[in-house]
Amino acid sequence: MLGTIRKESGGTRGASLPHPDETRETFTWDIAEAMLDGLPDGALNIAHEAVDRHVAAGQGAQVAIRWLGKGDAREEITYADLAERTSRFANVLKAHGLERGDSVFGLMGRVPELYVTALGTLKAGLIFTPLFSAFGPEPIRTRMEIGSAKALVTTETLYRRKIAKWCAEIPTLKLVLIVGDEAPEGCVALAPAMAEASPDFETARTMPEDRALIHFTSGTTGKPKGAVHVHKAVMYHAISGRYALELTPGTIYWCTADPGWVTGTSYGIISPLVNRVTMIVDEAEFDLDRWYTTVEQEKVEVWYSAPTAIRMMMRAGDDATKPYDFSGLRFLASVGEPLNPEAVVWSNRVFGKPFHDNWWQTETGGIMIANLAAADVRPGSMGKPMPGIKAGIVERTSTGVKELADGDIGELALRPGWPSMMRTYLDEQARYDKCFVDGWYLSGDLAMRDKDGYYWFVGRADDLIKSSGHLVGPFEVESALIEHEAVAEAGVIGVPDETAGEVIKAFVTLKPGYTPDEELERSIRGHARKKLGPAVAPREIVFRNTLPKTRSGKIMRRLLKARELGLPEGDISTLETDET
Ligand code: ATP
Ligand code: MG
Repeated sequence: MLGTIRKESGGTRGASLPHPDETRETFTWDIAEAMLDGLPDGALNIAHEAVDRHVAAGQGAQVAIRWLGKGDAREEITYADLAERTSRFANVLKAHGLERGDSVFGLMGRVPELYVTALGTLKAGLIFTPLFSAFGPEPIRTRMEIGSAKALVTTETLYRRKIAKWCAEIPTLKLVLIVGDEAPEGCVALAPAMAEASPDFETARTMPEDRALIHFTSGTTGKPKGAVHVHKAVMYHAISGRYALELTPGTIYWCTADPGWVTGTSYGIISPLVNRVTMIVDEAEFDLDRWYTTVEQEKVEVWYSAPTAIRMMMRAGDDATKPYDFSGLRFLASVGEPLNPEAVVWSNRVFGKPFHDNWWQTETGGIMIANLAAADVRPGSMGKPMPGIKAGIVERTSTGVKELADGDIGELALRPGWPSMMRTYLDEQARYDKCFVDGWYLSGDLAMRDKDGYYWFVGRADDLIKSSGHLVGPFEVESALIEHEAVAEAGVIGVPDETAGEVIKAFVTLKPGYTPDEELERSIRGHARKKLGPAVAPREIVFRNTLPKTRSGKIMRRLLKARELGLPEGDISTLETDET
């Protein structure tokens, strides 16, 4: 294990909340509720909490979104602007006959209209679903069908390329809004419609249990599921942003997640705005120099990213970080995949702060297990359960589940009851019901808790490898591999073997300047054997230019495995990179 990173103090700076360590046992949801305003008669609306109440409290002039367009375009949107634009948008929906509970889809990159669409839809009491703009026509269509889309907001290019052909065949779809001044036949241009609409709208009095968002899972393990979330989730977005991301009013915050998946909404829109931060939104995709420049010039204080991006930074090396001043950063966090210990140590060295890993899922709606600012970081660990969250490690038995002891590997489970938990999977009630056994929500991930209460990710239940009587999690092997100087990324699977049951096979990508040859393969295998022991080290290493990943940046081990075994590839609608 790479040593602990100790913290002397810090955490939830300037916050009026109890310290997370003190409140872990005594926590009640009243603490989260007190962070919100609410609406008359027990109503609660995410858009009101994220935008309008700040304006009512005299903070309308604060910048909510500082948008950096591709190239040098820039736009600053204040809370007052956002309140007005979302009201206009809500009026546009109403003018076209959309009603409370209808479903609105957003398909676009990180443009200001995306934020207006998401929040304006919620303000009007409708349900918002984001989609990845990089999706092909088929994944878009199936999701719109499953979600009974009534309206779609997209760009002209995306519409012509991906939607136009089949759009008339979606029976529920009434309205296609196109970002900009003009729209193709049958669609409505958003800019003029907004200009004509009234800037006043009375926020819908949604109730806490009313549906607000539908998020499709990443599809890493199979067909994506549509997780249904309600307005009450905002309670959890408020408090988890404070505790796990250190978001306080005025913080300059940058979440790099794609808006097409849950992180892009929970922590790319709602949580930061509820906590009245100034969000940096960068329209461009990952580009090392641009990212480092943005952190420096925008004076980013809190940065929330993902292992795939962090590994790209590591791949470029320490020297690439040297020209930049990162002293404005005060908290860094990562989600989406296991964060290799090497990445934690590296970031601590080059940024002066480590990336803090946290764990959650589309289903949980918010961060469940986290390394908090105030706590020591054990590189490679996901941290501890958040205040208000009760987690356990369990084993399924023939009659239910049994809790396991510290140090044992089992399924990571949570006691339901936090506000942002999904309420069902769309049209798949049975699949949803199967997630709950003996009062636990079973996550499908395997983990271990150490004696000090830190949780360690082992792998997806489906990805676990059984080799010569050992249970091996791919994460452990991948982390050892990327400690080798030549390795940038690694994906590890088990392949059937007559004597061992399964043997471990690794697919790796290399850092620039290394040649994929036999000598290097031997060197990497030797390194892995030394770190992991012969039983757990990969038997074979294959060099690849890229690893197959979902659009949310997750390595698709099931695809590596299916191809290895010549099995059907299954649902690959979310597949992004894929070259051999
Ligand atoms: P699907 O459920 O469709 O297979 P998915 O599980 O990848 O896709 P998401 O909900 O986007 O869809 O991702 C949640 C999963 O991502 C978690 O269950 C876990 O496997 C992984 N994950 C997220 N954060 C972490 C983390 N910090 N460490 C390890 N794994 C993580
Ligand atoms: Mg999942």
